[in-house]
Amino acid sequence: MSTSTQRIPARMADIGGGVTVARTLPSKLKRTIGAWCFLDHAGPATFAPGAGLRVGPHPHTGLQTFTWMLEGELLHRDSLGNEQVIRPGQVNLMTAGHGIAHTEESVPGATRVHTVQLWIALPARVADMAPRFDHHPDLPRWREGGADIALLAGDWQGRRSPALVHTPLMGADVFAAEGARLSLPLDPAFEYGLMPLTGAATAQGEALVQDELLYLPPGATELALELAAGTRAILIGGEPLGEDITIWWNFVGHGKPYITEAQRDWQAGSARFGEVKGFNGPRLDAPPVPWAT
Ligand code: MN
Repeated sequence: MSTSTQRIPARMADIGGGVTVARTLPSKLKRTIGAWCFLDHAGPATFAPGAGLRVGPHPHTGLQTFTWMLEGELLHRDSLGNEQVIRPGQVNLMTAGHGIAHTEESVPGATRVHTVQLWIALPARVADMAPRFDHHPDLPRWREGGADIALLAGDWQGRRSPALVHTPLMGADVFAAEGARLSLPLDPAFEYGLMPLTGAATAQGEALVQDELLYLPPGATELALELAAGTRAILIGGEPLGEDITIWWNFVGHGKPYITEAQRDWQAGSARFGEVKGFNGPRLDAPPVPWAT
């Protein structure tokens, strides 16, 4: 286990429709922070009418997709029959468990997007659970040290997010319209990541630019945070997962054979993942797994 902070730079990826994402997890430096195992930050971006996000039917296993919306609107559809528009300030939480398929697309007429998509790895004891989808329009919110805080996941400072998670973890959005300086309590059993989504921050004395993730190992009891005016940052944390997970394409699982089977099942059109109705476009193909089977 590393005992000092680490800076994790973002890799930029074009996801089509005029939208670029900054990806900081997983990285070669750090695969997970608690059970958080994927962090994609899209936008803030303006796109042409008719463009924007349009991700066709694709599967997931062994994880929860956690969508935090900041600008614009996205339509989620899944193979359980859910159809849900997510708006700024809301969370969509899709628990893949044994298998689910979904689509995500900008709503007609939209020209802005700013969103964070995170994945949470499911621990082995629930990794094969039945899939479910939850929409959370209301989250605990408060003001502290000049910042507006929304609790996205977990228990923190006597508050509790309604999002159902399966390991000890937390996530929060911190926004400082006019700049803020604050000290936030941390659980020494947790490791954490702090990343400015817009603007610049200083965390534990380290200056960070937009899309630069600072990793904090377990042991800290407080986070000294300074946010420049207009800065928004996300804080994620959790108990180190302590399980060996494989993350490949849209699948998370315990061991390569599990992922190999999921890939085969998706490509075979197995009922395991169901069918997304109402999306006008082809389903995504899973590439072959990159290991011998
Ligand atoms: Mn997805």
